[in-house]
Amino acid sequence: AKTQGRGNFQFFSPAMNRATHERLLLENRLWQGLEQREFELYLQAQIDLSDRHVIGAEALLRWHHPELGMVSPDRFIPIAEESGLILALGDWVLQEAVGLLQRWRSAGLGHLRLAVNLSARQCHGGGLLPLLDRLLADSGIDPALLELEITESAAMQDPERSRELLRELRARGIKVAIDDFGTGYSSLSYLKLFEIDRIKIDRGFVKDIESDPNDAVIVAATIALAHSLGLEVIAEGVETEAQSDFLRNKRCDEAQGYLFARPLPVPAFEEFAHPALAS
Ligand code: C2E
Ligand code: CA
Ligand code: CA
Ligand code: CA
Repeated sequence: AKTQGRGNFQFFSPAMNRATHERLLLENRLWQGLEQREFELYLQAQIDLSDRHVIGAEALLRWHHPELGMVSPDRFIPIAEESGLILALGDWVLQEAVGLLQRWRSAGLGHLRLAVNLSARQCHGGGLLPLLDRLLADSGIDPALLELEITESAAMQDPERSRELLRELRARGIKVAIDDFGTGYSSLSYLKLFEIDRIKIDRGFVKDIESDPNDAVIVAATIALAHSLGLEVIAEGVETEAQSDFLRNKRCDEAQGYLFARPLPVPAFEEFAHPALAS
């Protein structure tokens, strides 16, 4: 990207100029959106593959802009990340997530775990641990019900710092999952370096599990490897019964995907996770 410091002149083609302009516009709208409370957390169920009961959920950000409508995180997260806005947004997400866990405790949903995505910038800035300490102390929630998902590539940006961060998180009893497993460095050495609890097999491998023998082998081997290291495994993007059967046969612990539930607004997820509670 052509991000240059102040005072550095840079020539853009008209097309680039437009792209840059649109980016700046979106960035401004993001800041405004945070102030105007245009963000919402959706929850996607995570289920136990052996009996399909709901174990918890992954929190996924949604942005409803008054004019643009629903903007996909794939579009706004990279901009938020690059502009630094992700720090404020990420703090908001964590605060909301802990608030949910706190509410669930007194609403008969106290067994549910909540997974939150961390961006690279959040991991490597210094604000995360103090924020978590404050949220945990104020809420009194069980830290083991909070899981933080960090992507392989974010962790590998600065392996030493990541290692330290993951150790600090786990010292607090917070769970850690490696997201998008298999898409980044494909070096497995970091599994030895990082203290983690769970591996999330990327949707890219799950998608063609039935048709691509290589993907089937990779997924089966990943599950076996994780288990031999004492880690749990969750598969993301499970859309068919055949995928679910394959994963269950390979002893994958948990799964997440449209087959079981789409990301849902909080009340709809709560009803899905505990139908008796429907109000
Ligand atoms: P991710 O962490 O890999 O999240 C999984 C994505 O797969 C979600 O997309 C989810 O809606 C989608 N998905 C779940 N099940 C299925 C399925 O069966 N089939 C298909 N085709 N897709 C499925 P979503 O919600 O659009 O989020 C996209 C990405 O944006 C996330 O990928 C994550 O990297 C990022 N993101 C979302 N919320 C946050 C957040 O609060 N903080 C940060 N830093 N990133 C976030
Ligand atoms: Ca994730
Ligand atoms: Ca993922
Ligand atoms: Ca993914």
